[in-house]
Order: sequence, then C-alpha cells, then structure tokens
Amino acid sequence: MEILYSSTRCGEKKVTASQAILQGLAEDGGLFVPSQIPVFDFDINEKKDMTYRETAYEVMKLLLTDFTEEELKYCIDSAYDEKFDTEEIAPLVYADGAYYLELFHGATIAFKDMALSILPYLMTTAAKKNNLKEKIVILTATSGDTGKAALAGFADVEGTGIVVFYPKNGVSAIQEKQMVTQKGKNVKVIGIRGNFDDAQTGVKKMFADEELKKELAENGYVFSSANSINIGRLVPQIVYYVYAYLNLLKNGKLAEGEKMNVVVPTGNFGNILAAYYAKNMGLPIGKLLCASNENKVLFDFFEDGVYDRNRDFILTSSPSMDILISSNLERLIYKIAGCDAKATAEFMALLSKDGKYEITQDMRSEMADFAGGYSSEKDTFAKIKDLYEKTGYVIDTHTAVAASVYDSYVKETGDKTPSVIASTASPYKFARSVMTAIDVKYDSMDDFALIDELCKISKVEVPKAIEEIRNAPVLHDTVCDKDEMKAMVKEFLNI
Ligand SMILES: *Cc1c(COP(=O)(O)O)cnc(C)c1O
Repeated sequence: MEILYSSTRCGEKKVTASQAILQGLAEDGGLFVPSQIPVFDFDINEKKDMTYRETAYEVMKLLLTDFTEEELKYCIDSAYDEKFDTEEIAPLVYADGAYYLELFHGATIAFKDMALSILPYLMTTAAKKNNLKEKIVILTATSGDTGKAALAGFADVEGTGIVVFYPKNGVSAIQEKQMVTQKGKNVKVIGIRGNFDDAQTGVKKMFADEELKKELAENGYVFSSANSINIGRLVPQIVYYVYAYLNLLKNGKLAEGEKMNVVVPTGNFGNILAAYYAKNMGLPIGKLLCASNENKVLFDFFEDGVYDRNRDFILTSSPSMDILISSNLERLIYKIAGCDAKATAEFMALLSKDGKYEITQDMRSEMADFAGGYSSEKDTFAKIKDLYEKTGYVIDTHTAVAASVYDSYVKETGDKTPSVIASTASPYKFARSVMTAIDVKYDSMDDFALIDELCKISKVEVPKAIEEIRNAPVLHDTVCDKDEMKAMVKEFLNI
C-alpha cells in the first residue's frame, strides 16, 4: 500500500515519502503526516529474533513506501553499523523496577543518533530518486543534541551543507564543545543570543521565506531540515520501540500480546510521537507517559487541554527538553482532530498569535493513551542519586526526569505494567549535573576531571565521543542575535 504525505495544515497537496524528506517542512508551515498510519504486515510474536537492522527494515518499509528494498536496506546498513558501540544498537538495561532503553550508543551519545545516522542516507537517496539538482542545505535549530548528531551525520556528505543554531547559554559545556569542534568543509555552527524556541522559530521563518528560497534556488541551493519536524527523523524513531518490545518478548519478560508502557523524556514531542505511531501500527503499548522537566507546558496541556506557552522559559539541567513550543505536538493535534487540517491550522495560528490554544472535549478524549508528568530539578537529582546508590546504574538528567515521573505515576496509579523508559543520553554528556547530583563534592572539579570520576563510579568506559573532544581545537566561534540568523546563512552560502 502506498503511503503519501500531506501537510497538517492543508490536506490537499500530497507528496511521496522521499519528497517529504527532501522538503522537511510543508510549504504552508505545517508538518508532513502520512495519509494513514499503516499497521504491521507481520506477526510480532513470530519476529522475536530480528536484529535491529531487520526490525528497521520491517518498520520503515511500511512508511517510506517509495523507497525500493535495495535503497532502504542500503540506508539502514550504512547507518546502523560500527558507528554504534554495541551490536545491539539499542540495548535494554533493567534497573530498580524499569527497563531503560539505552538510545545513546551512537556517535554523539544522545538518542538523536538513532535517526540522524540514517537521515543523510535517506536524504541523498531521496535526492537521487527525485533528480534533485540543487545542493541541500540543512538548517537546524538545536537544544543541544540534535546539532551535534546532525553535524556528525552530514559532515562532508556530498551534495549537502549544514548550518546549526544553538542557544549560546542554553546547552551543557560538553554539548557545546562537541559542536564547536566539528570538522567538515560543509558545516557551520552558530551560537545565538536567545533560547531554543528563538532558534527554532528563526529556522522555521527561513523555511517560510519565499524571497530567500528564490535567492537560494538561483544559486543552486534548497533548504531541508534535520529537526524532528522532518518525517525522515520520525520514522526511524519508531523502530526502537518495536525492537524493545521484541527484546522483552524474547527474554520472557512479556507474554505474547502483553502490553508495555513507555516513558519518554519529552521536549519537541518527536520521540514520544514515534512511540504513539508504533502503538497505532499495532505495537502492544499501554500508556505513553510524557515526562517534562520544569518547562511543563505539555504536562499542563494533558491536564486541562490548554496549550499555553506564555510563561517563563526555565534553564534546567536537562537542556534538550527546555522547550515551550513542542513542534511535533502539531502532528498529534492533527490526528486527534480527526485529521482535520483546517482545524489544525487554526490552532497553530492561535499559538503563533496568542501563544495559546484550547482543544475540544472530543479531542481530549482521543488522548487517553497519554499521561503527563513532570519532575522538578530537585526530584530529578534525587532520582539520579537514589538509583545510583541502589543499583550502581548511572543515568543522565533527561532520563532521570522520565524515571522520576515514572516513579510518581506508579505511586499514584498502582499501574504495574512492565515499563520501558527511553534513556536519551549518556550520563557522560551531562557529567557535571549527574556527578553533583550524586555528591556535591564534585562541583569543584573541572569538566574532564568529572568525566574521569564518572568512569570510576559507573564502571562504564568513557565513550569515544568524549575522548575526541578532550583536546580538540575550537573551530566555530560565531555568535549572533536571533534577528541575524538569515544573514548568517547567506554569508555561509556566499549569496
Ligand atoms: C532531544 C532530546 C530529548 C527530547 O526529545 P524530543 O523528541 O524533542 O521530545 C530528550 N532527551 C535528550 C537527551 C534529547 O537530546
């Protein structure tokens, strides 16, 4: 069955999966959504033994229907190889009542690698299929992890260039060092004086800027996106939920047909939306627990159906979740509005005008699969310390937000369904917060001394991604105001 894609804001124009990946964002500012969410054409119970790559093929072929088997397998095999430090790609670790799905074994030690190691292959393959002549310029706004993962994926990829904008004072020291040391002829990293929402809004504006697009075209360029607004990010993220389920089945932790709950530390709503798509495709998932940090705009939304970004932006120790405008929520809104593009466009217009909208009662009843929760900084740190002291397992701050929300959820509901917590970053990426959560004495040490201490207490080898930046020279030091982003892109492209 062929799946086509249309915008969440206008259902009329339909494009193929490869065209949607190339374009990133629809022309009307909406996000591409599949005409329908396909269901698995295989029996999960008979596929327990699939490897990560096999699972990826079985899932992705259902959504990226205009890619041939050969093309898709080429992309999958090129992406999920030795760049990952474990053959399992996404291992599951049990600790103190929950399964941690470790999504940080890729090149940049955050879950963004799961999709961004394949996106460049999907994109260059899509460019070939569609006879694209222009050079693809990837514009990326990052709250810290997407930036590096996209840079690593696209660096020196023929026919592409990439510009990354990050909030200058809104990422961890390690995250920043990872980005500003990035090598590659086609890469540019820029800090902006503003927060992630400013960066994301600036990027979205450039996508919608017709004049700029024309100028680009005249110079042989076309924009695309590596953010989770790109369907090419979302589809690969469905895979690991299926893989985790198969793993639990295989190891007798779940009986055939038994449900698992999924807990996701959420920012832009991309990761949890992938889990929701997995459920819609037929994966036995019970609750989808959406975990927020103190920027709890999503928690409030699940509580009362009002999305309201009019509030202070809080810088937390889980910076990749410091977001007040969760882009991918638009895809959920579209779905629970009964795939009504006009209604979705109206909600998004309200969001942009008033920073706020309220969904209908009917729509709220469509969200019963979700439960929202949030964790304060204090509870997040306490969870890291407690889990470490009980089990010796060290988790990062983002994962700890989810684990803390999970604990409260179980306490409140008594729901004992086996649960998978998406572990979205290596603790090494947020070593300072993690180590001081365990013991304040670490606060006086420098970042790399902390890395060595973390290695001692966790008994987990220091990842290559960290060793690489220890002595790497800074190659990018541009900082700009949020209204200078367009000029920066033009300067990089020499137009
Ligand atoms: C990006 C990120 C998140 C949030 O994921 P979304 O898909 O934006 O909801 C959580 N944790 C880490 C470590 C991340 O990098």
